[in-house]
Amino acid sequence: MRALLVEDDSLLGDGLRVGLKQAGFTADWVQDGLSAQHALETETFAAVVLDLGLPKLAGLDVLKRLRAAKNAVPVLILTARDAIDDRIAGLDAGADDYLVKPCDLGELAARLRALIRRASGQAAPLVEVGPLALDPVAHTVAYRGEPVELSGKEFALLHEFMREAGRVLSKEQIIQRLYGWQDEIESNAVEVHVHHLRRKIAPEVIVTLRGVGYLLPKELI
Ligand code: CA
Repeated sequence: MRALLVEDDSLLGDGLRVGLKQAGFTADWVQDGLSAQHALETETFAAVVLDLGLPKLAGLDVLKRLRAAKNAVPVLILTARDAIDDRIAGLDAGADDYLVKPCDLGELAARLRALIRRASGQAAPLVEVGPLALDPVAHTVAYRGEPVELSGKEFALLHEFMREAGRVLSKEQIIQRLYGWQDEIESNAVEVHVHHLRRKIAPEVIVTLRGVGYLLPKELI
């Protein structure tokens, strides 16, 4: 899952980026409000971690513009310990959650997972489609009760397919969700990952719709 991190403090931002990556997120990091706004207008993220005190455009204004543009991406704001008014203003402007800085990386990742889960209308932490079960916290996958070993990107791709079971994802959508700015992408990366998922799980787990995209059937048996 791809997250946008907006934090102008270099040390803190770098720590958060590394922490998110270790928790399995593809994390893209920007250090001012205008860059955040631009990224949110042009790219797809599963969640946003937003500092409020930012150069060029304040975090609260980034959030207000985001919601004014009807973008419903889950947003977690980072606030200072004593800034209760900031938290209230942020939540009222459309933030979904907040954490006080300095925050625990494990808690940040858990809260993001919860926000993303709720945003996709899913109550249980375990994602299940037929005989396929994926645990986003333990980073494990089982098919018919048997564990399946997947690479980081294969796991991320399967997670996206399972969250959208029965819906077609185009190659472009998959790339948007899986890869950050720093990632190098081979032109056939998606095909290769899909091939691996079929080989490691079952050939019928991903259906190709030629010229349109791929889907994981809802009625997987
Ligand atoms: Ca700041």
